[in-house]
Amino acid sequence: MAAEKQVVEGLFAETSAGPRLLGSRCASCGAAYFPKGSMCHNPDCDESKMEDAEFGPKGKLWSLAIQTYPPPPPAKYDEPYKPYAMGVIDLDDGLRVLGRLSGDDLTVQPGVDVELVIEPLCHEEDGTPVVTWKFKPV
Ligand SMILES: [Zn+2]
Repeated sequence: MAAEKQVVEGLFAETSAGPRLLGSRCASCGAAYFPKGSMCHNPDCDESKMEDAEFGPKGKLWSLAIQTYPPPPPAKYDEPYKPYAMGVIDLDDGLRVLGRLSGDDLTVQPGVDVELVIEPLCHEEDGTPVVTWKFKPV
């Protein structure tokens, strides 16, 4: 099996049920947090009771922006730079989260159903592909 490196360790995992984002949820009010939070920030919440939670894989694209030019350092990418779509996703389990959209289609529109995937980002480190979470229109 080819080795992979997560762009940031501990934010996502390939579980037996498929890819999931690793966050937390307040057991008292149900508020969802990603990345993991140590306390609940819901002003209407009486008691912060944080528990680890997995999020995904299904959701809907709420909004997006096309990244048409290369990001400044320390962002890394392989030449030639390829524009990509960055989406804001409403996951079915209550989390609104940012993520790249999978694929080259830059005409995708808000409202489409998406699914969480773990895929190569856009560069390698010492020959090892760097992977991140993305959302694939379905
Ligand atoms: Zn709460």
